[in-house]
Amino acid sequence: MGSEGATIDLITPTSPLLDLKGVGPKRAEAFDAAGLVTVTDLLFHLPVKYEDRRVESKIVSIESAGSYLLRGHLSQLRQVRIRRRGLTLIRGVLDDGSGTLPTLWFNRPYLLNQVEEGTEYLFYGTVRETKTGKELLNASCEVPERAQLSGRILPIYGSLGSLKAGLLRGLITQVFDRVGCEQIKDPIPQTLLDRNGLPNLSASFTNLHQPGPDSDVDSLNQRTTEWHHRLSYGEFLDLQLELSLLRDLEQYRSKTHSYSLQGDTHRRLFDFLPFELTRAQDRAFNEIQQDLLNAKPMLRLLQGDVGSGKTIIAALALVAAIENGLQAAMMAPTEILAEQHYRTFRRLLGDRYRIELISRSVQNPSRIRKDLASGDIQLLVGTHALIQKQIEFKELGVAVIDEQHRFGVKQRRMLLEKGTRPDLLVMTATPIPRSLALTVYGDLALSVIDELPPGRLPITTRVVSSDRRSEVYDRLRKLLESGAQAYVVVPLVQDSTNLQAESLASTIEMLEQRLEGFRIEAFHGGTEPTERDRIMKSFLDGEIHVLLATSVIEVGLDVANASVMVIENAERFGLAQLHQLRGRVGRGPRPSFCIALHGDLTSEAQQRLDVFSKTNDGFQIADADLAIRGPGDLMGTRQSGLPNFRIGDLLRDRDWLERARRDAWKMVEEGDIHSMPSGYLQKLRRRAKRHYDELGGG
Ligand code: ADP
Ligand code: MG
Repeated sequence: MGSEGATIDLITPTSPLLDLKGVGPKRAEAFDAAGLVTVTDLLFHLPVKYEDRRVESKIVSIESAGSYLLRGHLSQLRQVRIRRRGLTLIRGVLDDGSGTLPTLWFNRPYLLNQVEEGTEYLFYGTVRETKTGKELLNASCEVPERAQLSGRILPIYGSLGSLKAGLLRGLITQVFDRVGCEQIKDPIPQTLLDRNGLPNLSASFTNLHQPGPDSDVDSLNQRTTEWHHRLSYGEFLDLQLELSLLRDLEQYRSKTHSYSLQGDTHRRLFDFLPFELTRAQDRAFNEIQQDLLNAKPMLRLLQGDVGSGKTIIAALALVAAIENGLQAAMMAPTEILAEQHYRTFRRLLGDRYRIELISRSVQNPSRIRKDLASGDIQLLVGTHALIQKQIEFKELGVAVIDEQHRFGVKQRRMLLEKGTRPDLLVMTATPIPRSLALTVYGDLALSVIDELPPGRLPITTRVVSSDRRSEVYDRLRKLLESGAQAYVVVPLVQDSTNLQAESLASTIEMLEQRLEGFRIEAFHGGTEPTERDRIMKSFLDGEIHVLLATSVIEVGLDVANASVMVIENAERFGLAQLHQLRGRVGRGPRPSFCIALHGDLTSEAQQRLDVFSKTNDGFQIADADLAIRGPGDLMGTRQSGLPNFRIGDLLRDRDWLERARRDAWKMVEEGDIHSMPSGYLQKLRRRAKRHYDELGGG
């Protein structure tokens, strides 16, 4: 960083890029289009890689292909004619005294005017092996006395729209010449940096854009230096602060109700349990109890693989409310699921409490409405019917939403409005990796059940080419003969309901031939809800042997006797979806099977099916999915509002995400956030408020 001349026209980190030499209105516009306005924005444009141009090599000692820095002179320079139009080729021979190396450049015709034979230059390029020996490809070339690229670790930038990499490097160098780096204030308090052992922002920028001669090139390229960590952490902290502020908006005011969970209540809380809780369940419920005892309302996501036993945890939270004289509610996305929960709660708690079900098909809703408003009904289970206008509770204490991804945030708010700041627990079986959950559901506290109840029979998973379809269905026939029930799932071929119906129709024909004598029924996304419920019910009652469906098949459905899942064209399903489908079986005493039939496989599909057949652990699957597809694909960036991290990587930097989450929550809870620069804080607050309004609040 030269600083001569810096006094003449200093710029600051917040100067517009237009203040840089070489940036006129047009380039400023191009920067703007890429989202870069200030000098600091430009500094966040990190090199995509680093070239190690520190040490000169000798031609004689080059043993393998790779990138090398060489010093020597050229001879036999010439442009070679090639037939393909638009392509030029220049050849020459490099001599460095230790040996010679054929050298070639593609598409750099101007070189002939710039480079002289016999003059000494520094070259940096790729040495590759060919049939006729080694050659040096597309080397950069500079005069040793004025070398800027050689003798150092050279950062390589990606271009930004029309702004080319070389230009960006020049501008960034200019920034370092004209801005005193110590001027770049770090918005993160020093105490926080110290606690995490992180360098400050200006040191990070300096070392990432102008790495010193002793830097570790591999770590730079893997983005694992402390300088990278500072930027990743900063990026995560930024988001986590916003989410913590969002949480603060959501649960700003204290509850009007409170709980006692000691003594007699404690005993009654647990004495209805038909089994011992697993360690993971126990931990999750402890976290929930802490929330209930807190002055602020609970806002918690309970994540657990299919079959991990979330329902009983919900039951405990609901009972906690009822035992404290409050009402409780549980909402599920479908009638079948709501009924399933209703039956479970009636069985476990029916002799203790008044429990009712509300859904479209409930007989006497006006009686329910009356008894709910008077407080006679202690637990109400239902579908969306639960959030209708006419439904009024006397005093709602705990509300639970099952399969929360099937509901919008609007519906979550509507449920909350059924009480005065009730405690909310939302549950999901979607095994997204923790790092993604912290990002997408970052305003919610997170509990994870990462363990299945004991005694579960394993599900045998087979991935089979569709060439062997007859074998598979022969086997299925035998299993059906022994009394099992089965699901067959085909992918959603098109969005069009007709096409779905068509592909189902042809599959049903195929099944009816192969499985003659068994009752088969089908539904898809376009099937009438009442028809769908009828089919599901008769499957539940064992009247239907094979249920054929598209992937709309009910989440959370517990049919113990269904022990076979056949997935057609499994290559068309995502890993998470495959895993969800497999979770429909393995719920009863029968040995269970999941058979994934597939057609031609891309290498990605192959990877997916490999992971699928190797593990039945939802969280391992989610991690693999994140690695194979990347976070954007995993969540469907648009819908989820998953932020685009420029530097942080949810997989590589997950530890820093955890720290950022912890630090951000603490700062907001303890009020330390006020020590942050006021401009920065304002920006965060504005974002949180916008986020809140987008979620339908206000
Ligand atoms: P999910 O998390 O998918 O909603 P459920 O709550 O439906 O899972 O539980 C799946 C099954 O496991 C149910 O039949 C439930 O009774 C049983 N179960 C849950 N917890 C335990 C436990 N700790 N010990 C034994 N069985 C359990
Ligand atoms: Mg469930």
